[in-house]
Amino acid sequence: MTDKEKRTIDSLVAKKVPITKIAEQVGMSKNTVKSYLQRKKLSDVCLNCGTTLKHIPHHKKKKFCSDKCRMHYWNTHPQEMSLKNVTVIKCESCGKEVFSYRKKPRRFCSRACAAEGRKKNA
Ligand SMILES: [Zn+2]
Ligand SMILES: [Zn+2]
Repeated sequence: MTDKEKRTIDSLVAKKVPITKIAEQVGMSKNTVKSYLQRKKLSDVCLNCGTTLKHIPHHKKKKFCSDKCRMHYWNTHPQEMSLKNVTVIKCESCGKEVFSYRKKPRRFCSRACAAEGRKKNA
C-alpha cells in the first residue's frame, strides 16, 4: 500500500464512506482496507507529522499532536475537511458572519459575544 493510497483511504474514512466503497475506489480487497484501519487504530499518528499520539481513555480521539500540526494540515488539505458540519452563522451579538464547525452551530463569533448575548437575554 502506498502513502497515497493510505491518504485516500484516510480521507474516505473521514467522510464516513463505507469500507466496501473505499475498497472499490482504491482497488483493494475489503480485508486489506480493514486490516489497514485496524492497525491504524492501534497506533494512531499525527496526520501532519506522523508523531505517535497518546490517547487518553474516555477522551475524544486526537488526530494531531498539536494545534500547530492541525492548522498546518487543514491549511494544506482543505479538501479533506469534512464539510458536513460547516455552517455559516451570523453572530447574534455583533452580526459578524463566521464559520461554525460544530454539529450544533454556535450562535456567537466569540466568547466575548456569547457573554454579551447572555447578558442581553438575561
Ligand atoms: Zn504533529
Ligand atoms: Zn460577535
